[in-house]
Amino acid sequence: MRYLIVLIACSLLFAGCSTKIDVHPSGGYDTLGIHWMTIERNNAIYYFQGTGEKGASVYTDMYEHSYDTLASVFKPKLPRKLRFFVWTDWVQARQILNYPLSFAQGSKCECHSRVNQQLGHEMTHIITYWADGVPWSSYSRLVTEGVAVAFDLTHDDRIAKAKSALKGQNIHSVADLWSGSYQEAEEKVFYPIAGAFMDFMFKKGLREKFDALIKNQTQAEAEIIYGKEQLDALIKEFDGTVGLH
Ligand SMILES: [Zn+2]
Repeated sequence: MRYLIVLIACSLLFAGCSTKIDVHPSGGYDTLGIHWMTIERNNAIYYFQGTGEKGASVYTDMYEHSYDTLASVFKPKLPRKLRFFVWTDWVQARQILNYPLSFAQGSKCECHSRVNQQLGHEMTHIITYWADGVPWSSYSRLVTEGVAVAFDLTHDDRIAKAKSALKGQNIHSVADLWSGSYQEAEEKVFYPIAGAFMDFMFKKGLREKFDALIKNQTQAEAEIIYGKEQLDALIKEFDGTVGLH
């Protein structure tokens, strides 16, 4: 899958041969000096900074399928159609957006993605934000990034990646990332552990509680949702699974 994404990324960087897909310049962001190639599909409007039409068409096929997969899990109801921006010039993106790629803005229903991003990560941010049509009421980095990593649609061994990220760190529990001193840890440490934890929590099958957790994300709120005893037991079990004591 990663190989395919890289191939498509390359094809987006160079103008492809002509195709029958519906592509046309847009739109709202032209004032920022970018003429986007857009493709509107069922789930999203895709904005491409690159100009390879054939690659863009295949790219939208893959992301439409990803959206459908994630939507079947989280039942999102967005107030407006998702706008999915695919950047090939990341330096320019940072200058214009004032923030490094990739990221999603739930309230605006927008993703700003690098062309070679994992399929599910940024879409999961939007889809969980609007799951059941209700936006988040509170945020924690552990839950937000954790669920996006857990549903990035890669086939990574999440426990193995978490164990590897924990090496050399002074982390004693995943709770250190939730309400302790590791809340702002660098991405390469934080994301794999958060992703493994949220994958673990989802697979416990406590679905109503999990759905409440993605809307109410602080550890204090999770103690109310799960009950302190059950949450403590889940954290302890997860810690043991990744080799923490
Ligand atoms: Zn993210």
